[in-house]
Amino acid sequence: MAGALGGTFSPHCARVHPAKLVAGIAAAVERRGVRILERTRAQRIEPGVVTTDRGRVRAPRILRCLEGYTASIRGQRRTWLPMNSAMIVTEPLPDSVWDDIGWSGAELLGDNANAYCYAQRTADGRIALGGRGIPYRFGSRTDVDGQTQDWTVESLTTILHGMFPAVRPARIDHAWCGVLGVPRDWCASVSFDPSTGLGWAGGYVGSGLTTTHLAGRTLADLALGRDTDLTSLPWVNRSVRRWEPEPFRWLGVKAMYGLYREADRRENKGLAGPSRLARIGNVLTGR
Ligand SMILES: Cc1cc2nc3c(=O)[nH]c(=O)nc-3n(C[C@H](O)[C@H](O)[C@H](O)COP(=O)(O)OP(=O)(O)OC[C@H]3O[C@@H](n4cnc5c(N)ncnc54)[C@H](O)[C@@H]3O)c2cc1C
Repeated sequence: MAGALGGTFSPHCARVHPAKLVAGIAAAVERRGVRILERTRAQRIEPGVVTTDRGRVRAPRILRCLEGYTASIRGQRRTWLPMNSAMIVTEPLPDSVWDDIGWSGAELLGDNANAYCYAQRTADGRIALGGRGIPYRFGSRTDVDGQTQDWTVESLTTILHGMFPAVRPARIDHAWCGVLGVPRDWCASVSFDPSTGLGWAGGYVGSGLTTTHLAGRTLADLALGRDTDLTSLPWVNRSVRRWEPEPFRWLGVKAMYGLYREADRRENKGLAGPSRLARIGNVLTGR
């Protein structure tokens, strides 16, 4: 990596192909007899009934697991803030570029900046790099089918080229985005209320690929009334306050990322320690 002064290594990481993961989970649950209803948007959730754009579904227990899209349910707009996250992926890179970069172990990579980015060498020899782009849309709005703004693609491409100058001539094949669920205290939770039959899990703030597994198992135990090691974990039935009404949450997140980017700029210029601006950003948004 160009300009890197040092690094840390952890073996506790794995790369996962997201589309294969989704297709694999869907196939696994269908094998167990679960019916998946696609193209059906839940609009309202009440004890015993979910109102969708295609009719009502009745069930004694209803689990809300919509993560960053939770804001689309009536009454949940301020529960978890939908934070945008975007990725770009290059075309498959020629051997000459890989000879220049190295990275033969395909380790997962993060820059640990305040407004951080992360990257991987994919199984088919591309670089996939992700980061924040425009962090939040006013009024808890979410992306439309993963369409990514040009500004975001350009800023991620600039980061990619800064890290790996040898990649400059390569095409960016694809860009996509989605939202993460961010609770007011930035910590995930799993909850179930036996008196209403309503439960939920989420607020993973971008680390949901493994956490969802634990949350799913925990939620299953709670919904089935089992008392297990999982149901006594501290994130179970935790109450978290809601985000502020607009324009305050938009101003808060915008200010936080402004401070993060300025802190990164100062740290890149050779500041001896972490910039105080990032800490102010954290205090501002309760991170
Ligand atoms: C670009 C990007 C990169 C990421 N990178 C990483 C990473 O490297 N590592 C990591 O651990 N995590 C990463 N994440 C986060 C990770 O994807 C999430 O934490 C994880 O997918 C959460 O799983 P989930 O099942 O709770 O929610 P989701 O995967 O968000 O699933 C929610 C589902 O609900 C559906 N839905 C939405 N609204 C409605 C509605 N009204 N009615 C019915 N269905 C609805 C959606 O279509 C979706 O299928 C990334 C996220 C993004 C967007």
